[in-house]
Amino acid sequence: MKNMTTRRHFLASTAATALAAAGCSTTIAETVGSTTSNRGIRVRFLGSGAAGWKSEWAKNPHMRRQSSLLLENKVMIDCTMCAFDKMPAGCRPEALFQTHSHGDHYNPSAAVKSGVKRMYVQETWSAAARKEVAEAAAKLNLPAPEVIALPFGKAVEESGMRFTGVPANHSTSRVTDGVLERTSLYLVEKGPSRLLYATDTGGIPGDAARMIGIDPHVTPGTKKKPFTDNPYVHAAEPITAFIMEATNGANDDDFRIFVHSSVQTVARIANMLKRTKRLVLPPGQSVMLTHLAVKYRSWPSEKINAELPEGLRAAYDGLELLLG
Ligand SMILES: [Zn+2]
Ligand SMILES: [Zn+2]
Repeated sequence: MKNMTTRRHFLASTAATALAAAGCSTTIAETVGSTTSNRGIRVRFLGSGAAGWKSEWAKNPHMRRQSSLLLENKVMIDCTMCAFDKMPAGCRPEALFQTHSHGDHYNPSAAVKSGVKRMYVQETWSAAARKEVAEAAAKLNLPAPEVIALPFGKAVEESGMRFTGVPANHSTSRVTDGVLERTSLYLVEKGPSRLLYATDTGGIPGDAARMIGIDPHVTPGTKKKPFTDNPYVHAAEPITAFIMEATNGANDDDFRIFVHSSVQTVARIANMLKRTKRLVLPPGQSVMLTHLAVKYRSWPSEKINAELPEGLRAAYDGLELLLG
C-alpha cells in the first residue's frame, strides 16, 4: 500500500492549463490538496439524477439529469441526450463506457452524436449494442463508434486512464443470444488515483470488491500478490475516490433494494471502507452521491447535503471536481 500521507494534488492552475490544452472552456469548481504533482482524476457530472428525466426541465438548473460522467474531458461513462447540456464547450470525448442498457444510461443516437470513436459495452450485450449503434448511425448519417465487448476484470487504457468493468448488483430484461445482460461498475485508475464509480447498483457485489482489491479476503497493507491474469485474485489496494448512487434516497426499506442503494447503504459501505483503510480519501474529499432519488430531483445540493450523514455529499449537474 502506498504511503497516503505523501499524496499530492493538482494546483488549480495546472488543471486550468490541462483544460485549455484539451480545447475545453471550463474551470474546476474545486480541487483537493495544494501541491504541484500530477495527480488526481478530473471528473464532471453531466447528470446526477435517476431515471424519469423530462426534456421540459432542461431550463431549470436544479433539475438533475440522467446520470453521466465525463472524465478528463476525454471519456464518458454513460451517455444520453441529457449529457450534452453540461458538456464543456469544445469537448469531443474519445471514448464511452456503458454501465448498462437502461434508457437513462444508454441511447444509441446519443452515443453516435457524441462523436466518440470507441464505445465499451459489457460482453453479454455488446452484439446487440453494436447493431443498435450501427442502425442509429445510418439513420443520422454519421460515423458509428467501434463497439468493443468488455469482459469483467479486463482493464483497458483510454486517455491516460485505466478502466476496469466489474459486476454491479443491478438487472435489466435484455437477453442477447440467450444470455442475460450483466451490468457494470467501473474502477478508473490514473497514477496513484483509484476511483470507483458505482451506479446503478444495490451495494457492492463480492466479486466486484474482489476485482477492485477491497474485498474481505485481502488485508490492506499486505504485500502485493504476484501478477496474475485471474481478475478475481487482486492485491489489496485502497480506492482513493468513491462515487455511488443513492436512488433509494433516505428510504432504507425501498422496494428497489435488490438493484439500487439508499443513502444509508452508501454511508455504511463508505464508513467500513474508511475504517479498514480500503478507502483512503485525500483530506477534504467527500464520498459523492449521484443517480440521486427522484425526491431530490429539484433540490439544491446544499439542501440535500444538510440531510446527509457526515462525509457524504450530493453531486449536481455540471459539478467538476479533481478526485483522488
Ligand atoms: Zn438501471
Ligand atoms: Zn439508472
